[in-house]
Amino acid sequence: TKFEALGLNKALLDAVSDLGFETPSEVQEKSIPVLLEAETDLVALAQTGTGKTAAFGFPLIQKLNSESRTTQGLILSPTRELCLQITNELQLYSKYVKGLNVVAVYGGASITEQAKQIKRGAQIIVATPGRIKDMIGRGLVNISKIEYCVLDEADEMLNMGFYEDIKDILSNTPEDKSTWLFSATMPREVASIAKKFMYKPVEITV
Ligand code: AMP
Repeated sequence: TKFEALGLNKALLDAVSDLGFETPSEVQEKSIPVLLEAETDLVALAQTGTGKTAAFGFPLIQKLNSESRTTQGLILSPTRELCLQITNELQLYSKYVKGLNVVAVYGGASITEQAKQIKRGAQIIVATPGRIKDMIGRGLVNISKIEYCVLDEADEMLNMGFYEDIKDILSNTPEDKSTWLFSATMPREVASIAKKFMYKPVEITV
């Protein structure tokens, strides 16, 4: 299939086949090979419904080490609904990757329960900015070793007033991680985050 040509491994191709995805979407075609091949920052202008969750999710799942329980990937997203949706998609995509745990943390739900799930070992955390900032402050989450950070719907997160939270969170992450930013629009605040926290990002528009 055309998904093979993008460089995905067998575990992901089997999941793709179970999901019935036949052809990669445009954002997937443009992002996946770039993200698999190099450690690079990425800015992608893409609307919801374009398949962007797989565009960052497939490379993330393929690149991280599922044998280590360390948190290696952090995905920030604006709302609880989106967090749960992304978590659910990533769990489907990684069904053949043994030992991979994807955990959602978001406001309005028990912090103790979420902390318990994190403690079991989450290679990927999908979070709303306010809640994860809170959990970092309480020592319930450690993102000091992440290698990949995805900012999903960056324009929406900034519209909701998460600019300072995002800056705080990113300042708790390693300098040498890769950052992948997805946004439907590119207002000044999004450009500012990209300029401040990203290095020579590959730019993609769909
Ligand atoms: P997203 O834009 O990531 O929210 O994806 C929108 C929907 O399209 C989700 O339900 C995905 O499971 C689905 N999807 C993603 N990529 C593909 C694809 N290549 N072919 C068919 N469906 C897809």
